[in-house]
Amino acid sequence: MSTLRILMNGSRGRMGQTIVACAKNDPALAISAEVDAGDDFHAALLDCDAVIDFTHHSVTAPVAAACAENGKLLVIGTTGHSDAEIAEIKNAARKIPVVFAPNFSIGVNALLWLTQKAAEILGSDFDLEVVEMHHRLKKDAPSGTAKRLAEILAEARALTYQKDVRHGREGIVGERTSAEIGMHAIRGGDVVGDHTVIFAAQGERVELSHKASSRETFARGALRAVKWASAQPPGLYDMQDVLGLK
Ligand code: NAD
Repeated sequence: MSTLRILMNGSRGRMGQTIVACAKNDPALAISAEVDAGDDFHAALLDCDAVIDFTHHSVTAPVAAACAENGKLLVIGTTGHSDAEIAEIKNAARKIPVVFAPNFSIGVNALLWLTQKAAEILGSDFDLEVVEMHHRLKKDAPSGTAKRLAEILAEARALTYQKDVRHGREGIVGERTSAEIGMHAIRGGDVVGDHTVIFAAQGERVELSHKASSRETFARGALRAVKWASAQPPGLYDMQDVLGLK
C-alpha cells in the first residue's frame, strides 16, 4: 500500500499537534505539510493526497472548495459551522470524499448509537437533557458532539433542534415541557471533553456518559477516517460510516 500524504491544516493547534505526532507512528501515513494561519495552504495542497482540518469554522468552507477543485479528500474535525458553511461543505462532498465528524472518538460514536437506542426504548415519558464540559479555551458552545446528541434525541421524538432545544435556564422559566431538550455547556480548566445524556422520568433516571481524557483518541479516529476515506467514492460521511455503525 502506498503512503497516504496528509496536509495537516491547523497544525499548531492542540489537535493539529496531536495528529501530527500520532501520524508519525503510522508507516501508512506521512505528513506532507503542516499548515497554520498565515502559511500557503494552496501551495501545500498541490503536493498531498488528503487534508485534515482542525481549525476554526470560518476556515473550513474555503478549504473544502479548494479540496474539491483539486480532487483531494478531506477529513473535517472543526466544529461550530453555520448552516451556510455546512451547505458549502456538502457541495464540495459531491466531488470528493469528505468525513465530517464533530467527534472522532470511538467511545463517543458508541455514545451516539446508544443515545438513539435509549431514546427509542425509553419513549416520551422521559425528559431529555444534554450536558457537556470542555476546557476553558474552547471557542464554540455547545460542542459539536452535544449538538449531534440533541439532534439524535430530536429525531427520535419528532422534535427539531432549532425549535425545541433550550439552552440553559435562568429566572422564572416555568415548568419544563416534555417537548424540550435541555442543553448545558460548562467550561473550565483543561477538560478534554465530557458529554452526558440524561433521560429523567417519574421515579427513575438513565444517564449515558462519555469522558475523554486525552486528545489522542480524536487524533487516532481522524487518522482512521482519512485511511477509510481514501477507498471511498465522493460523498459526505461521518464517523458512524467509518466505524460501520450505520
Ligand atoms: P486550537 O485553537 O488549539 O487550534 C486551531 C488552530 O487552527 C490554531 O493553531 C490556529 O492558528 C489555526 N488556524 C486558524 N485559522 C487558520 C487558517 N486560516 N488556516 C490554518 N490554520 C488556522 O483548537 P483545537 O482545540 O485544536 O480545536 C480545533 C477545532 O477542532 C475546534 O473547532 C474544536 O472544536 C475541534 N475539535 C474537534 C474534535 C473532533 O473529534 N472532531 C476534537 C477536538 C477538537
